[in-house]
Amino acid sequence: GEIAETPIWSVVDSVPAVPAVVGAQLRVPLVTGGSAEYANLDHGASAPCLNAVRDAVNELLPWYASVHRGAGFASQVCTRVYEGARETLRRFVGARRTDSVIFTRNTTDALNLLAAALPADTSVVVFDTEHHAALLPWAGERVHHLGIPESPQEAVRLLDAALAECADGPKLAVLTGASNVTGELWPVAELARVAREHGARTVLDAAQLAPHRPVRIADLGVDHAVLSGHKLYAPFGAGALVGRDDWLDRAEPYLAGGGATRSVPDAGEIDWNTGPERHEAGSPNTVGVHALAKACEVLAEHAEAIEGHEDLLLRRLRAGLATVPGLRELGLFGPEHDRVGVVSFTVDGQDPGLLAAALSAEHGIGVRDGLFCAHRAVRHLLAGTDAQRAVRISLGLGTTVEHVDRIVTALRGLVAHGP
Ligand code: PLP
Repeated sequence: GEIAETPIWSVVDSVPAVPAVVGAQLRVPLVTGGSAEYANLDHGASAPCLNAVRDAVNELLPWYASVHRGAGFASQVCTRVYEGARETLRRFVGARRTDSVIFTRNTTDALNLLAAALPADTSVVVFDTEHHAALLPWAGERVHHLGIPESPQEAVRLLDAALAECADGPKLAVLTGASNVTGELWPVAELARVAREHGARTVLDAAQLAPHRPVRIADLGVDHAVLSGHKLYAPFGAGALVGRDDWLDRAEPYLAGGGATRSVPDAGEIDWNTGPERHEAGSPNTVGVHALAKACEVLAEHAEAIEGHEDLLLRRLRAGLATVPGLRELGLFGPEHDRVGVVSFTVDGQDPGLLAAALSAEHGIGVRDGLFCAHRAVRHLLAGTDAQRAVRISLGLGTTVEHVDRIVTALRGLVAHGP
């Protein structure tokens, strides 16, 4: 196919806004004594901030004030920004008009909030492939682990069988949009359909999907979705839980404190708010939420360009990696299965930690190595090999053709001569 020769900001230059990333031209020191333009190939961990997001933050900073509380103009501005961001998030994930948007610190926080809000005796079904943020918040006897499917069809069958076995009462199926280990897309609409047939709700971990592909939870038939701003080209500290509000309105407040109450009598029962305020006690991260919403706007506006460009870069990367002797890509559903710009791999006879360190020190390339907070998934994918860990490359808006070519050339050299 065609090969992308220009960085994403050139591709999208022809459309109105230019979503360049902050620090695109950073230089980093090399062990040789020289320096290199930093090639960030670790977007899956955290994506660099967009220039447009930085500008939006700078615009808001002079108006910095607490929301919901003050009568002053700055407080009104912040309240409008904060409440307006809910609408942006709702649109960004294609939610229903009646869905609530609760701001959290990140995906982990959002999933723990949902876990804390489950009605008593909820059965939870979860694949062992999940990121720990989606694997671990569910406690108790009614958690069913679905193992690790070898194909999307098997995933659907496993879910169907597990839900058929669940006791009566509320049920929740935990789904992921795209794997943070392999980038592979999961058959979310199919899984959600099966869940509905069993009267189960679904929560979609969209942390890795939303930076790369549009998410439409109403169309997918998904009940709740979670995401993190720092993976969506916004700064750290803001994420969201979007979806149906009934379980949340009946649950104990996630945080007790100011803003979560309607009234606190001298004695007796506290009257807690319903709606997002119930779970958002304390002064919220207005700047972070504004940044997250701005990032969502930019990503939505450029969704097609982003997907197209990442796809070209991914194809170029995988074609290059295929020429590295002894390199094995990790994958659950087979090499042809659709995926976002994430590739994890091992190289026969090479230590992943040393490879990652050499890529950084000798070539100015940032990747991740390890088990990627998905220990069960990675151990399964490494079974039968000598490797205990893997290396992960993840692409995004800051990625250029030069970065892709640099890592392929570097890996070929490291494999030929050793790190
Ligand atoms: N889910 C997936 C698929 C992820 O990739 C990550 C981040 O690594 C998370 C959840 C957790 O996100 P956060 O660390 O922002 O809470």
